[in-house]
Amino acid sequence: MWCIYLFITWALLSSLPQMVGVVGLEVHAQIQSTSKLFSGSHVRFLAPPNSLVSHFDASLPGTLPVLNRRCVEAAVLTGLALNCTINRKSLFDRKHYFYADMPAGYQITQQRVPIAVNGMLVYSHFEGRRRNQVVTKSVKIKQIQLEQDSGKSLHDDEQSQTLIDLNRAGVGLMELVMEPEMCCGEEAAAAVRELQLILQALGTCQANMAEGQLRVDANVSVHRPGEPLGVRTEVKNINSVRHLAKAIDYEIQRQMEVLQSAGKVLNETRAFDSKSGNTIPMRDKEGLQDYRFMPEPNLPPLFVYESKASVPAGVDPAQVVVIDRLSAQLPELPSVKRTRLVETYGILQEHSFTLVNEDGLMDYFENVVQTTKAEPRKVIGWVIKELMGNLNSQNLKVSQSPISPCALAELINLAESGHISSSTAKQVFQEMWKAPEKTVGQIVKEQDLWMINDKEELQKICRRIVDSHPEEVQIIRRGNKKVLNKLMGEVQRETKGRTDPVQVRAILEKMVS
Ligand code: ADP
Ligand code: MG
Repeated sequence: MWCIYLFITWALLSSLPQMVGVVGLEVHAQIQSTSKLFSGSHVRFLAPPNSLVSHFDASLPGTLPVLNRRCVEAAVLTGLALNCTINRKSLFDRKHYFYADMPAGYQITQQRVPIAVNGMLVYSHFEGRRRNQVVTKSVKIKQIQLEQDSGKSLHDDEQSQTLIDLNRAGVGLMELVMEPEMCCGEEAAAAVRELQLILQALGTCQANMAEGQLRVDANVSVHRPGEPLGVRTEVKNINSVRHLAKAIDYEIQRQMEVLQSAGKVLNETRAFDSKSGNTIPMRDKEGLQDYRFMPEPNLPPLFVYESKASVPAGVDPAQVVVIDRLSAQLPELPSVKRTRLVETYGILQEHSFTLVNEDGLMDYFENVVQTTKAEPRKVIGWVIKELMGNLNSQNLKVSQSPISPCALAELINLAESGHISSSTAKQVFQEMWKAPEKTVGQIVKEQDLWMINDKEELQKICRRIVDSHPEEVQIIRRGNKKVLNKLMGEVQRETKGRTDPVQVRAILEKMVS
């Protein structure tokens, strides 16, 4: 009897669709601006503690917020780049909670009407066995709101005390809320990577996760497609794109296991522990928080204007935010850059991603292309394989490359014109890396690497090889042409790769026939 029961359960379970992960991100991006959102204090990472704090930042009584236009412009630019609708009128609200690093007891944010809504972020990731198939997806952006950052609490466990640094208190943030439309760590990581590139191109946020300029909270749930979304957890403490992917995939797996063993997923905040790769419950948010939102009484509604013409009489257009003016300032975005690279230079799509991902690499590549006669498709090989290979293995940035675009162009030119062989060129590249003070010509000369193009000299070398390999010559003459490769190898070895294989083959073939 119970056999039948088990069978029915099994049949029911296996006919259900597989559970899938659902991911929605909340991103806090620190606005790149010289001063804070509502005060004139400077914004700087790693300044001495409490050296960048105005009376307003410390919430002294009687101080009032003064909105920083630059921060509003940054939010509008970001909204435009992410295909958002910019609200012509948005509002500020107070969100109350008590924390030592927030002296006012509330944060000024935009809860009711944020500055930008209904956007979309288009991102790509790689699939396939060689990870070279580009798959493009998009995620909706619910809203972008302006808000204040909090200060920092530094816990000193040894002396059981907490120190407060208010340098960060009041720095402008853009909070971007995405719809729960992604399915796994890889998608979320790709979306955040693209967002970083966009923000950096705009100059609205430096977007370095390790320095906290970009902070990503991942909301994760699991469900069966077609059914309502599951209960979500929120994962915090993620300080790199790689950790983001790991944390999400761990959390999806954990929730599936909880549900499969008839447990319940709790709506809780969890922290990612990078050492174990696990997420663990955080104790800070027990019970439901009541933020007691209320309109911020010290700030009027925030207006932005379509064009100069729509700025009301009596208002100085230079003092307000005008959307037209900002649209005209939008730089070339990463996706447009990549398309342009593929179309202009005929390079592979996957390579266009590498060029745009690495800061300065695209400029480097274009610089080389302009200074050499070689095909861009050849240049890209050098840039991706040799240059990036060396930079990555030594953990260097493009700007720290010991080989300048000019020097690389010179090297490629020598190989293209047949003055050095392509295998020699790679060897010279490594020498240039070690001795950047030397010119390409110097290295080639010092190590005697010029190609042997002299017909007579080539003949002599080939003759020597043929004479010293009588057995091989016999075999070739009997019809086994493959053995010719061995003789070619000998010539290459003797000349340290300084010969043109096509020429050498022709000479050897003639000699043994
Ligand atoms: P709240 O107001 O409670 O913070 P929101 O609707 O603003 O809720 O959502 C916050 C974030 O959580 C958004 O990024 C959203 O995409 C994400 N989210 C909401 N529901 C889910 C879910 N079931 N699974 C995964 N992410 C979710
Ligand atoms: Mg929220």
